[in-house]
Amino acid sequence: MLIKQQIQEIEESIAKGDKIAITTHTNPDGDAIGSSLAIYHYLRKKGANVKAVVPNKFPAFLKWLKDSDELILFDKNAKEAKKVLSEADLIFCLDYNAFGRVGAVADDLAQTKGKKILIDHHISPELDSFDYIISDVSTSSTCELVYNFIVSMGDKDLIDKTVAECIYTGIITDTGSFSHSCNKADTYITTANLIDAGVDAKKIHGLIFDTFSENRLRLLGYAINDRMLVWDDLKTAVIYLTKEDLKKYKYQVGDTEGVVNVALSMDKVNMAVLITEKDKKIRISFRSKGNFSVNDLARNHFNGGGHRNAAGGSLSKPIMEVIEEIKTVVQKYKSELNYEVKY
Ligand code: 5GP
Ligand code: MN
Repeated sequence: MLIKQQIQEIEESIAKGDKIAITTHTNPDGDAIGSSLAIYHYLRKKGANVKAVVPNKFPAFLKWLKDSDELILFDKNAKEAKKVLSEADLIFCLDYNAFGRVGAVADDLAQTKGKKILIDHHISPELDSFDYIISDVSTSSTCELVYNFIVSMGDKDLIDKTVAECIYTGIITDTGSFSHSCNKADTYITTANLIDAGVDAKKIHGLIFDTFSENRLRLLGYAINDRMLVWDDLKTAVIYLTKEDLKKYKYQVGDTEGVVNVALSMDKVNMAVLITEKDKKIRISFRSKGNFSVNDLARNHFNGGGHRNAAGGSLSKPIMEVIEEIKTVVQKYKSELNYEVKY
């Protein structure tokens, strides 16, 4: 949490018309886009001079969020994004814990003179990179922390329907619609306040989860039927999707969201892995049930990180070798993965 003096400094910076930039992680998800747009709308309501930069394309199921078309995509519009970052006096760093998470934006972020405010819920933030730090791994989402931040600024009344919809989006996408990372009353109290502010929960659920293309659903079916390996002795299920698979099902950004969780829903499985060949770097998503830390696994072996039960990483080698490497690594954790989750 920020101390009173820090809140005051931020307030003064906004009030005197400082330039403000908002940044978030690569392959932005609902929490990244939701928190970016929540802060964007909130600051605009305060009359601030604010622009938001995202590293690359975000899923179409988030495009309904108000002014999502005003987000500056670094990979499409680097010149404008670089200008925003270099001129910024204050920079919000949302839903990431280290500059390494913002891809091509990292250099500009490291070089800018602007003071950086971290609002994030990932493990082990790089504290030296930020001037103000709001970091809490026990919170459902960055969006929930953004709600708390706005309240701590004394601006609860500025959380109107638009801001509330953005925050709600991050909470439901990061908790799998209240199925994990939300065992604290605070999340529900905040959610109740968002409903009071005008959120229509059914509408937002529909916009995010009931807008799949036919191809997306068929890709999910194919992934489970044809591309899932179950390593019984390791209590692990692995789904892999090659470039050709993605092409066949006309892959769009966001189409593989949730696939890894489907594999984890199997009773005998404690860890699920999704491997996707989107470009030269092979993306790996990890999910676990119970105590096994996929954050540690991703951090120690796959150039990544995240949370205890949800993490990501990448390897630059052919996809079939990636599968082999994962198997070799996971074999070392066989005994750690050999537990029964009791409900
Ligand atoms: P996902 O599997 O949905 O892409 O990511 C799961 C979680 O792990 C998210 O919280 C995400 O921020 C984090 N994550 C994903 N990829 C990486 C990565 O390459 N490095 C780090 N440090 N975290 C990641
Ligand atoms: Mn998040």
